[in-house]
Amino acid sequence: MKKALVLGAGGFIGSHLVTSLKSEGFWIKGVDLKFPDFSETNADSFEIGDLRNQIFCESIFDQPYDEVYQLAADMGGAGFIFTGENDADILHNSALINLNIVHPFIKSNSKNLFYSSSACIYPDFNQNDPTNPNCEESSAYPANPDSDYGWEKLFSERLFQAFLKNYNINVSIARYHNIFGPEGTWDGGREKAPAAICRKISKIQNNGEIEIWGDGKQTRSFLYIDDCIEATKLLMRSTFKGPVNIGSDYMISISDLVDLVASVANKKITKKFIDGPEGVRGRVSDNRLIEKKLNWKPKISLEQGLERTYSWISNQVLLKK
Ligand code: NAD
Repeated sequence: MKKALVLGAGGFIGSHLVTSLKSEGFWIKGVDLKFPDFSETNADSFEIGDLRNQIFCESIFDQPYDEVYQLAADMGGAGFIFTGENDADILHNSALINLNIVHPFIKSNSKNLFYSSSACIYPDFNQNDPTNPNCEESSAYPANPDSDYGWEKLFSERLFQAFLKNYNINVSIARYHNIFGPEGTWDGGREKAPAAICRKISKIQNNGEIEIWGDGKQTRSFLYIDDCIEATKLLMRSTFKGPVNIGSDYMISISDLVDLVASVANKKITKKFIDGPEGVRGRVSDNRLIEKKLNWKPKISLEQGLERTYSWISNQVLLKK
């Protein structure tokens, strides 16, 4: 039986990944500071612990794993990453996790490591035009990410690539672009734009008003969770190791995203644009490399993904009332 270790298995992507690996017949150990927030874990073994602790990290690499997924990070949406208030913790906590796991990974004789980097590594100066941002993989350098979250991801990409060069570890690196779907954080300050918009729209009556950070003209692309999991496993098992974008190449303005959610919710709404943390002006996943190397394209449209996500979040809002 194949064995997988999922770090960050209590988080959004990690908990979905565990479920998917389980359906393939893997034996899975999940590790996180917490259990998944919205459903029982499907991991065979789940260790609650802090990956900033070196001794704990050594203890979880207790056997050779076929696949190790490193998804644990101190992270959140624009309200967490772009205010500047959490930068020290983001840099320190996430870098420490990545530094801590690499030697135990080698010592355990585990085979393959996957690292979840981010679209936030791309230089600010290539993302000023909302209609034509450049997020081609090769544009990462000269580096100038717009957040310390992005700088940490870039540092950790380099860390794992240096271990590939000097210690010959088998590491795949993905740059995720805005992953969304059911069972993602939807309130509390760490939620991302699609979840926040779904929550706001589900809470208002027909013809109500919602507030949107920025002028709404900033652009992004969003990838549904099932597509993300499929691409993640494909990259892990490929001889092509990246870094490569895992995202959608369908770009939409935040204002149009709000309209799409309103139409999914079947509500008429008024948009009020207010000052708030927004990040870069434009960002879209450039999918040419992943299409060429892995022959992969997203299957679920933004509208289909939002239908499923809105339905789940509106239910959560009702449950919390
Ligand atoms: P998430 O916050 O839901 O999951 C991360 C998990 O890591 C959380 O459950 C958290 O408790 C855990 N964690 C944090 N610090 C820890 C520690 N010290 N010890 C043990 N566990 C710890 O985030 P997610 O959306 O599932 O993202 C997974 C990974 O993908 C992260 O590395 C994130 O930076 C990256 N990523 C995600 C997106 C996205 O759109 N969701 C985009 C780009 C990159």
